[in-house]
Amino acid sequence: MHFIDPETCIDCGACMEECPVDAIYYDEDLPAELAIFRDMNARYFDRHPLTAGEPVSPADHPAVEPGALRVAVVGAGPAACYAVAALTRTPGVEVDVYERLPTPFGLVRAGVAPDHQHTKSVVDIFNRMFGDSRVGCHFNVQIGRDLTHDDLMAHHHAVIYAVGASRSRELGIPGERLPGNSPAADFVGWYNGHPDHARHEFDLSAERVVIVGNGNVALDAARVLLMDAAELAGTDIAQHALDALSNSSIREVVILGRRSARYGAYSVGEFAALEHLPGIDVVVDTNDLADLPDDDVETTLKLEIARRYAQREANPGNKRIVFRFDTTPVEITGTDRAEGIRVGLAGGMTEVLDTPLILRSIGYRGIPSPGLPFDEDRGVIPNDRGRVVDPDGAPVEGVYVTGWIKRGPRGVIGTNRTCAEETVESLWQDFDGGRLSGQVGNREALRQTLADRGADPVGWKGWRAIDAEERRRGSATKRPRIKFVDIAEMLAAARG
Ligand code: NAP
Repeated sequence: MHFIDPETCIDCGACMEECPVDAIYYDEDLPAELAIFRDMNARYFDRHPLTAGEPVSPADHPAVEPGALRVAVVGAGPAACYAVAALTRTPGVEVDVYERLPTPFGLVRAGVAPDHQHTKSVVDIFNRMFGDSRVGCHFNVQIGRDLTHDDLMAHHHAVIYAVGASRSRELGIPGERLPGNSPAADFVGWYNGHPDHARHEFDLSAERVVIVGNGNVALDAARVLLMDAAELAGTDIAQHALDALSNSSIREVVILGRRSARYGAYSVGEFAALEHLPGIDVVVDTNDLADLPDDDVETTLKLEIARRYAQREANPGNKRIVFRFDTTPVEITGTDRAEGIRVGLAGGMTEVLDTPLILRSIGYRGIPSPGLPFDEDRGVIPNDRGRVVDPDGAPVEGVYVTGWIKRGPRGVIGTNRTCAEETVESLWQDFDGGRLSGQVGNREALRQTLADRGADPVGWKGWRAIDAEERRRGSATKRPRIKFVDIAEMLAAARG
């Protein structure tokens, strides 16, 4: 959804080479399934005209003496990676990245749906940066287990927490604990081979699955549940998930929205893309699809697409994604395990949708980090432009946040770039104000502390060895990779 102003573009085409996810096309070259973006772009700029002199990113901070600023980044997902990128634009800065898994890239590896392989190539821009000798990688090191927050503060002038929001929100309705009702995050982690989720089991034996919530995660899960296994086989989906989905009986995924279609949480592009799924119909089960004169461009487009789906004839024999709106879950039914979900409809009526598998895709919350303040209501670490603040609103010196733990679970991968730049800007202000100038241990002291604590870090080379081995395993069956889903296997591959 990126627009390049034809008045200023010199048509050199370099952006097409550079775009890490191959997302840039000349408008006349847009493939049929992306043609909708031409109109979307034009309509966006009808309402939001470009104005000269719009704010640009802040200038990079001038070089500092080597080692004058040592920063720890906790996490290695996209939020962390963009923070490292922003920091290392300034010569002299040293960054150490800590990640509890032996593998980097967080939700790019374990969240992005396998049929969105292009999106995953964003790691190409991070790969270059991790190769820089000023960046130390300490994967397989968990803060709170191998090192404490105080250890980090003893070896760095500043710590940026980029730990995401990994706890799934709960519905708070009767029957929620019945097996068969799972967080969508568990399903996503399972099909993406996250070691924490690889051993989950999902009942794929019935025709119907119900997903609560209609954000992009719900759409990802619905596609993966219904896509042809042969198509999934061309992706990096975890082998156990590919095997299970190859024997699935699911024909219908019902996606529940508690509000009307104008509040659909999916993004326009993801909603529109469902139209092009082979063998899958999209059914929109509501008549309440009229737009209003003051609707923003996104809402107008979502309603327009929904009306198109609503008018479509179903193809007998196709699988179906059914969008229902104004439908609120009130109870998971069943005795020993989930057998269905009772939903409340307009007018006080209820209905039971029979299914042994319910995925709740209603958003995430962060988890408190030991020694840091936490906002229980929002599930984030309280902060002011990335500076962590205590309950009185005073900055906690040297401690910062970026990504979902800073702003809540919203936005796409690229949103983390501006988010990280804001945090790093705050950090530089503090550095320039002399607030990050204490004595801290250097790399050698850090290595010693890690050894003393019995940590078993995997460095960048170790990850490259895991990566190479996963690709080698995939090449035999023409798959991009076959992921390791077991930490011991990852460590063995890292040690070569
Ligand atoms: P989300 O977009 O916040 O959607 C959450 C959904 O859950 C909403 O429909 C919400 O309804 C519903 N919900 C919340 N509490 C509920 C309750 N108690 N009962 C019933 N429904 C409830 O969350 P998400 O899908 O987890 O996505 C998180 C972020 O990741 C989003 O910014 C998303 O765009 C991004 N993401 C992007 C992609 C992509 O670009 N392809 C893929 C995956 C995720 P209300 O609106 O009524 O609250």
